[in-house]
Amino acid sequence: MALATNLGFPRIGAGRELKQALEAYWDGRIPADELRKVAAELRRRHWRLQREAGLDIVPAGDFSLYDHVLDTACMVGAVPARYGWDPETPGAEVPLDVYFAMARGTPGQGIPALEMTKWFDTNYHYIVPELEPGQTFRLASRKVVEEFREARALGLTARPVLLGPVSFLLLAKMRDAAAAGTVGGGAGGFGPGGRPAGSSGTDRQGPGSAPSAAGVGAGVPSDARLALLDGLLPVYGQVLRELQAAGATWVQLDEPFLALDLDEPVRDAYRRAYAALAQAAPGLRLFLATYFEGLRDNLDLALGLPVHALHLDLVRDPGQLEQVLAAGVPPALHLSLGVVDGRNVWRTDLEAALALLERARDAVGPERIFVAPSCSLLHVPIDLELETALDPEIKGWLAFAKQKLEEVAVLTRALNEGRQAVADALAASRAAVAARRSSPRRTRPDVQERLARLRPDDARRPSTAPERRARQRERLGLPLLPTTTIGSFPQTPEVRRLRARWRRGEIDGAAYEEGIRAEIRRVIRLQEELGLDVLVHGEPERNDMVEYFAEQLEGFAFTRHGWVQSYGSRCVKPPILYGDVARPGPMTVKWITYAQSLTRRPVKGMLTGPVTILQWSFVRDDQPREVTCRQIALAIRDEVQDLEAAGIRVIQIDEPAFREAMPLRRDDREAYLAWATECFRLVTGGVRDETQIHTHMCYSEFNDIIDAIAALDADVILIEASRSGMELLDAFVEHRYPSDIGPGVYDIHSPRVPPVDEIKGLLRKAAAVLDPGQLWVNPDCGLKTRRYQEVEPALRHMVQAARELREEW
Ligand code: GLN
Ligand code: ZN
Repeated sequence: MALATNLGFPRIGAGRELKQALEAYWDGRIPADELRKVAAELRRRHWRLQREAGLDIVPAGDFSLYDHVLDTACMVGAVPARYGWDPETPGAEVPLDVYFAMARGTPGQGIPALEMTKWFDTNYHYIVPELEPGQTFRLASRKVVEEFREARALGLTARPVLLGPVSFLLLAKMRDAAAAGTVGGGAGGFGPGGRPAGSSGTDRQGPGSAPSAAGVGAGVPSDARLALLDGLLPVYGQVLRELQAAGATWVQLDEPFLALDLDEPVRDAYRRAYAALAQAAPGLRLFLATYFEGLRDNLDLALGLPVHALHLDLVRDPGQLEQVLAAGVPPALHLSLGVVDGRNVWRTDLEAALALLERARDAVGPERIFVAPSCSLLHVPIDLELETALDPEIKGWLAFAKQKLEEVAVLTRALNEGRQAVADALAASRAAVAARRSSPRRTRPDVQERLARLRPDDARRPSTAPERRARQRERLGLPLLPTTTIGSFPQTPEVRRLRARWRRGEIDGAAYEEGIRAEIRRVIRLQEELGLDVLVHGEPERNDMVEYFAEQLEGFAFTRHGWVQSYGSRCVKPPILYGDVARPGPMTVKWITYAQSLTRRPVKGMLTGPVTILQWSFVRDDQPREVTCRQIALAIRDEVQDLEAAGIRVIQIDEPAFREAMPLRRDDREAYLAWATECFRLVTGGVRDETQIHTHMCYSEFNDIIDAIAALDADVILIEASRSGMELLDAFVEHRYPSDIGPGVYDIHSPRVPPVDEIKGLLRKAAAVLDPGQLWVNPDCGLKTRRYQEVEPALRHMVQAARELREEW
């Protein structure tokens, strides 16, 4: 019999109960016991939901109070000394407050949190374990054993879930010179103030947006971390034995790195690790989970490991099933087939999924098949039924976690009992697929025609960057070292309240508009007083840099409860991009032109770029991402044209997700970078030479994408730099980057006000390697999560530093 299963379930709760409990606990409003009770209740509810959906085996230990990588670090006792936990105390487990200190820092004592970064190519952020040479490990948290017992006590058949040892090490950072700039004061960008526990839940600036160690870069290198493997394995062995003693028959080990580019030492680490784990608990069955990509060149490696089940992501790479079957599935190996998309919200085409499953069943027999989502359901909302306000037609195309598990159960039944046993469900799926395919809501002939008519010139500016620079400098009358900001100014409680009241209908449009205009006036006046050269309107009308645009474009739908965990208690509610994208009218022109009317200095038009809108939405799966991205690009292009026609002289296109959208596998990157840069250039291709295009990206690793960055052909790129001490500029220097660069001189993730001399020091460093005439002076990112009491003095120092250096140079 094939079995229905799942790799992981969202933790936060359909009503974000975990978020509320966490924030109440952090604020001292509820005791730890209360938090634990809420957590246990959520686990119970989610297990029950999974069983009722029809699963034969549910995951246990996939729950987390903050993050599963942090849970793993605690499990193996990898707690850096600064958190004051004594690993020598025999038997002692990592206490709750040490756990949260690692996640969030301790503001009172000035102890920074561990760094945080993106989990592969998702928008989920994990806590980066910090290891040191000679690091020792010991079992210091039995969370997974306890949660497994909890599930058993409820009468469930559960499979404990662990992050595998090799992936754990590869997700970690070594704390030594080799990791310069990544660890130490404010590691991960959260200074002594700790991470904001904000409640709006959709700020994009909250988490550091640095790319994951896993996500990008030139493959996964072997290094000092792997030297720690031998010390780590005994702890995993002990956990496996304890799980076995508690009654587990299967244990899931997640090894997403198996789907990435690996070098030989990493492959060897896999062989050693799994040989040791198989030996540590003979009789226990290891379920090895890979996801987010196909195994490709790691296929033989994976098939050769001494495990009892191998999970394949057949949504990302359906073709790998044939490769696995052709390579020969070892006789004792089960296959877990991830045919329901765990990363997106669309209803599964059950017949297509079933075709894959039946092929596998016929090859290896039903008793060796698990049916599952492609990856953990952490990345999708919980229950579509809650969306009572969603357009019924679009709702019919969707499935959230609960509905996806029902699909898994139907597919399993079809395998075991034949298609006729689930004839109704298959017919409904067929009808839904057909309805979506033929819906006029999905397609717009005018958009498609426009795409078809595009010519290379549409994505090209008429002159070269140096030619444009001369004309822009003259028109804008900018001094050496022009000063500017990234766009948003602090979102005060008053501004948030104004937006919320308007959304709830408590104030009318006129009152709302006047409120926003008043805020814009304040921000413009402040910038003039501070002496900034290129001003911004401050973005008070925006809750979120993607949602703001998505709401004004056609082709997007919005949920009420579709929350997805971003990190810790922070959640986002991504828009659902279901149809061809069109722009019914201007989206920002009214605000920007108002701001410009208040000052003679240039005010920047502020737009989110197409790649970021794509990356931070649930996007359609019925056409290639690049086609969807081009459609978004054309809509933003029209906005750029309107801004220019309205007399706006500088326009910024933010692309903070440009790098994170990069494919996990090296072989796929060139194609991505080609269409992503083309989309950016489509946005800006129509502007006149004298209109200055800025772009902003909030990370600091450009080495491997510098050619693409240059190909964007922006006039000014504003980037994060202060935390890396300007080292990132090397990539630009080496490339002889022709346009202007604003390497952020002040870390907005910290409340700290940088002194004038510190800013000057950073600018001197930049000027040592670049032409001073190329340099801009600006913060690292938007200021929306900061307070005016920090922002004002910081910007004052920034302007002062620029002025003093202008005199000097
Ligand atoms: N313009 C946006 C802001 O300043 C950019 C945000 C971002 O890069 N994440 O808020
Ligand atoms: Zn940014």
